[in-house]
Amino acid sequence: MTQVRTRFAPSPTGYIHLGNLRSALYPWAFARSKGGVFILRIEDTDQERSSQEAVDVIIEGMQWLGLDIDEGPFYQMQRMDRYEQVLKEMLDQGLAYYCYMSEAELNTIRDQQMANKEKPRYTGVWRPEVGKTLPQIPQGVKPVIRFKNPPDGSVVWKDAVKGIIEISNEELDDLVIARPDGTPTYNFCVVVDDLDMKITHVIRGDDHVNNTPRQINIIRALGGDVPIYAHLPTVLNELGEKMSKRNGAMSVRDYEQAGYLPQAVLNYLARLGWAHGDADVFTKEQFVGWFDLDHLGKSPAQHNPEKLLWLNHQYIQHADPEELAKQVMPFALKEGINFSVGPDFIKVVGLLKDRANNLIEIAQGAKLFYNAAPQHDKNSEDFKKNVPDTVNQVVKDFIVLLQATDGSKEAIAASMKQVLSSHSLKMPALAMPVRYLMFATTQTPAIDAVMAIMGIEEVVKRLSI
Ligand code: GLU
Repeated sequence: MTQVRTRFAPSPTGYIHLGNLRSALYPWAFARSKGGVFILRIEDTDQERSSQEAVDVIIEGMQWLGLDIDEGPFYQMQRMDRYEQVLKEMLDQGLAYYCYMSEAELNTIRDQQMANKEKPRYTGVWRPEVGKTLPQIPQGVKPVIRFKNPPDGSVVWKDAVKGIIEISNEELDDLVIARPDGTPTYNFCVVVDDLDMKITHVIRGDDHVNNTPRQINIIRALGGDVPIYAHLPTVLNELGEKMSKRNGAMSVRDYEQAGYLPQAVLNYLARLGWAHGDADVFTKEQFVGWFDLDHLGKSPAQHNPEKLLWLNHQYIQHADPEELAKQVMPFALKEGINFSVGPDFIKVVGLLKDRANNLIEIAQGAKLFYNAAPQHDKNSEDFKKNVPDTVNQVVKDFIVLLQATDGSKEAIAASMKQVLSSHSLKMPALAMPVRYLMFATTQTPAIDAVMAIMGIEEVVKRLSI
């Protein structure tokens, strides 16, 4: 069996949103699931709109998601000699021809056709045929090169998503494959690349369905093997519109910066147009093991930010605290946390992860543990309100009990209960003053767990009034 070879072929013309990256994820997963090769090809022939910045974003986004590439990145702009060579071969073999029809003539013909309610198409004036005399080559007109499309019959392919598609060759005129300045055009470059790169499966957005019959005709003319095509339906935004920067789609980088885990985003994207039964949360390995082209969705997928956030929460909640701490670290540094004081960060992350939806929430929550001990003004209204005199003895008794514990959360909780019952008080009567004394706030995660992480010594220091 031939080895599976897939590619992601983005045009680096700006914004890379989640929908774009899904077009990388599926060919990657397919190659990985079949022990194949995954190639990155940068389609940068539109020099005006392409930028290195966009290429970087694509590559970083792929790295972030862990979509490793086996070959490339190849840049179409660096393959111009190769396209020129194939153009020449096609001219030599009569598969393509020079067309001297000027822009103005083409426009006139197009206008006439439109006026007659015909589909605008090239009339084939310069197409060489046996026994046909071509017009005199005009002076000073730089020709384009056109592909000699088959005049009849039809192009049929079995799309892995859309099923059988048949397009009559009458619908396709002779495609311009090189411009007057000699530069090759888009569909032609794609064909040369897909053949040279021995692509077996073209998995791409369905905005390219219309290009496919043209590409297949050129592949056949060149004697190449036609790959299997899988055209993915578009990804729509929450409002059911096509995803784009204009209507607020976030770029891949935005998700990274908003504290999403790449595993969660990968899982989310995997489900955006593909399903394995009703599995919702799965590992990358499971995804690769399960992925196939048979279960790709046929209708447009709709972006659901809440689902993504939910998945992010799932991944954070079940993450290994040590791994998660590494991922939170850049956010914690951004929050200005000073790690030279305070408790073990892994323990802090371990406590905060259960309630967090993203890494920023963890970093913000962690600040509490690293801020310097509050300087209390015991005469202030605030202090008196939160730590009434009546609570002094309770706190003192608590300190004594605390000092006898092993510092575990369980032992701390037991000490709290004990002191509360000896004073016939309820939990908030102690928990609130403790929070306030330790952090000058009454909002903290479960206070027994917080104290266990801070360590008895520090807790006692902060509670001693
Ligand atoms: N460069 C094209 C795009 O960004 C993809 C071409 C292809 O996959 O064949 O839409």
